[in-house]
Amino acid sequence: MKRGLWFGTNWKMNMTPGLARQWTDTVTAYMQNMPSDHRLFVMPPYPLIPQLLRDTEGTGLIVGAQNCHWESRGPYTGEISPALLKEIGAHNVLLGHAERRKQFDETDEVIGRKVSAALHAGLGVVLCIGEGATLKGKQTETRQFLEQQLAVALRDIPSIQPERLVVAYEPVWAIGVGGQPPQAEEVADALSSIRQTINQMVDECVPIVYGGSVTLQNGRSLLTKTETDGLFIGRHALDPSTFIQIIETAV
Ligand code: PGA
Repeated sequence: MKRGLWFGTNWKMNMTPGLARQWTDTVTAYMQNMPSDHRLFVMPPYPLIPQLLRDTEGTGLIVGAQNCHWESRGPYTGEISPALLKEIGAHNVLLGHAERRKQFDETDEVIGRKVSAALHAGLGVVLCIGEGATLKGKQTETRQFLEQQLAVALRDIPSIQPERLVVAYEPVWAIGVGGQPPQAEEVADALSSIRQTINQMVDECVPIVYGGSVTLQNGRSLLTKTETDGLFIGRHALDPSTFIQIIETAV
């Protein structure tokens, strides 16, 4: 059976209501003629979620948040609960991103609690895992590191309905402006070991996507030379035409 392909983007702390509208107009127009097995998802900053949900209703675009708390309510100033995200209509939530781990000290434990809470609240989850630069090129250690991240993050999950969990492999050394552009050969081994680990942990077929300096130049080889089920794109997807071009060039 032909596998479905996932293409997503995390806007991080970027975009405005006006730019967001241009982005959704362009991307939803493209989606009308897109192959039916493609799934597109976007994680805007929180205040833009209602606008995106409204503007893209009925198009199939998956709109999610970039983070959430593990509690459903309470004295957590500045935090957002999975229950509230679900209630306003968000489809999924990004958890475990390297920037949250590094800048906000999120541990595997904390991420595991969030994953479990989000799935219980009825949200989908895009779970990011990835090793840092010190492990680059060290296959055995990288494998063990990723296994550990998965084991803790998925420890308490309820049984997963299909398509409720996507794992994003994002090696920290490849992410962002200072990141090193990845070669498909470099990430292929990690992707296949993630696949093996997940198959042992959950019954459902969990899509695994690759993220970290995906560009127009490397999207195709990342998609075709590895076992990835799609691409997770950061800065190069802020421009909607480039996002679409990356998808079209890659498949
Ligand atoms: P990048 O971001 O594509 O800009 O490297 C990827 C990510 O952080 O998910």
